[in-house]
Amino acid sequence: MATPYGPAKGEPGYRNRQPRFRRHNRQLRNLAGIRNANRNWIALVRLTLLDIPSWSLAAAIPGLSVVADAIWLSRKDARKLAREERESGGRAIVQTFEFRRCEVCRRPLVGAEAEERRRLIILSPEARRRPCGPNCAADRKLKVWSRLTRRRAGDAVEKDSRAA
Ligand SMILES: [Zn+2]
Repeated sequence: MATPYGPAKGEPGYRNRQPRFRRHNRQLRNLAGIRNANRNWIALVRLTLLDIPSWSLAAAIPGLSVVADAIWLSRKDARKLAREERESGGRAIVQTFEFRRCEVCRRPLVGAEAEERRRLIILSPEARRRPCGPNCAADRKLKVWSRLTRRRAGDAVEKDSRAA
């Protein structure tokens, strides 16, 4: 009988997902020259009471939109912001999503798109060079997304030197 996790052993579509099989598959990919790709996560925080504080604007994920009451953050920063909101009596809504950047154009991929990309790039060593979508080549040429990440990296260096 099918389980909540999928088909049972012996049924069509059954896949053994035990850690030792995952490790074995990863080792096979390593032998084939395929770099491993782990899941990364980000969080969308919606605020009901506070305005978005400046520390979290500085920590926002580059390349994703920030609106008056919602911001994309690392999960650690999202927890911090949600705690601030709770302590002031508000109620933050935090949703987490898988996250990845296209290796070609650096476009941020969120949720299903990031998951598809991760599943694609572990298929062959060349898969990381495939375009993420119709605008990938043009975006790479114009450096639309890589400019955004570089500027953020510069900010971080400034912040570090001020702290030191
Ligand atoms: Zn791309």
